[in-house]
Amino acid sequence: MKHQDMAAHPAKGDGRQAACDGCGNKECSAAERQKGESEKDFAERRELESRLCRILHKIVVLSGKGGVGKSTVAVNIAAALQMAGKRVGLLDIDIHGPSIPTMLGLEGVPLQSGPGGLLPADANGMKVMSLGFLLPDPDQAVIWRGPLKMGAIKQFLKDVDWGDLDYLVIDSPPGTGDEPLSVCQLIGKLDGAVIVTTPQKVAAIDVRKSITFCRQLGVPVLGVVENMNGFACPKCGEVTAIFSRGGGETITSDMNVAFLGSIPLDPAIAVACDAGRPYISAYAAAPTAGIMRRIVAPLLALEPGDASILKKEKHENKEKKNMKIAIPLADGKLAMHFGHCGSFALVEADPAEKKIVKREDLEAPPHEPGLLPKWLAERGANLIIAGGMGQRAQDLFLGQGIEVIIGAPAETPETLVASFFAGTLKSGTNVCDH
Ligand code: ADP
Repeated sequence: MKHQDMAAHPAKGDGRQAACDGCGNKECSAAERQKGESEKDFAERRELESRLCRILHKIVVLSGKGGVGKSTVAVNIAAALQMAGKRVGLLDIDIHGPSIPTMLGLEGVPLQSGPGGLLPADANGMKVMSLGFLLPDPDQAVIWRGPLKMGAIKQFLKDVDWGDLDYLVIDSPPGTGDEPLSVCQLIGKLDGAVIVTTPQKVAAIDVRKSITFCRQLGVPVLGVVENMNGFACPKCGEVTAIFSRGGGETITSDMNVAFLGSIPLDPAIAVACDAGRPYISAYAAAPTAGIMRRIVAPLLALEPGDASILKKEKHENKEKKNMKIAIPLADGKLAMHFGHCGSFALVEADPAEKKIVKREDLEAPPHEPGLLPKWLAERGANLIIAGGMGQRAQDLFLGQGIEVIIGAPAETPETLVASFFAGTLKSGTNVCDH
């Protein structure tokens, strides 16, 4: 079935609508139309939510960039959950290279539809749906370019009939742009994200970005997996370091998220991927499979609605020392031209109490390349609230362990910090690149 056919898919309203109508849960976000929501959008949202509410846990797998093993990790998390007796679905929305059909030996499987929508393919009991099933010829990937992409993602999420599941693992498009954003927003109510990274220094910036991305969207970070850390000897399993070690753990402790574990570069993983079998089941007795099971253990311990792992995150947040939030100033308010600001407000705040403890105004140092990130890091800043900032500058700050929120309005530091803690801080697109 081609992508264009999806809009004409016959299964509509009936079964799904009834699921919502018969539910009676007044607390459900699909119970009422939201302010400003059109009748059509409301109907679509109900349709999606009536499907997703039959899934106990939804976990999205993210990475700052492609090629780090995100799909490999997603497949093996799903397989490990299934091996632990859970009913599992795996959804591949990696628009740039849907690789899950290959990894599960499902290439060329025809898409079927039933009365309730598109039917996932079966991989030894695991329910699998992939954008790849819609692209019989890989060259057709071209049809996903442009605005069609977002509509296609939405349609796709809405049209799959998962039935009842314990876990849905979602392989998201890489990066922190519009595509993973749409996926996280459309699915909503995620248990959280597993972020996959590699050990190199450049990847550290990507993982910080992914963590910041999740925080801005209110998606809990379940933890970080470092992939391809060291080389596992095919004969004895001993792991030899290739890149500098400990990077993933340092970032996660800096940014107060859980480190789930390191998977070595293991030729058998690539072999299993190519053979269409999850490594963790094909090589269940291998040491690397043990590592994967330990990575999945906290995900198995998730409690419905309130993940224990999240409680840990909240708990750690309480114990966390004060934050230092840097805000560029012009006339006492946030300066929209970050690179031209004359001073900074450095606001010390208690994240547990959501209160400002102290504010210090500092004259900005000369605007020399690379100076500001170091200067702010030396003063203990761990967050910048800015109007606009170029991508390169954001990366430099992230490299110093300073998160950046862009697109904030020209308000006083006190107002901005209060709305940051209230979760109402307006952020998003860059408003200036100077
Ligand atoms: P991404 O989804 O991030 O683009 P993939 O999961 O598709 O990355 O992995 C890219 C390639 O790397 C695949 O061929 C996969 O088999 C291989 N690979 C991933 N992780 C490992 C690993 N730990 N050891 C060996 N090969 C790996």
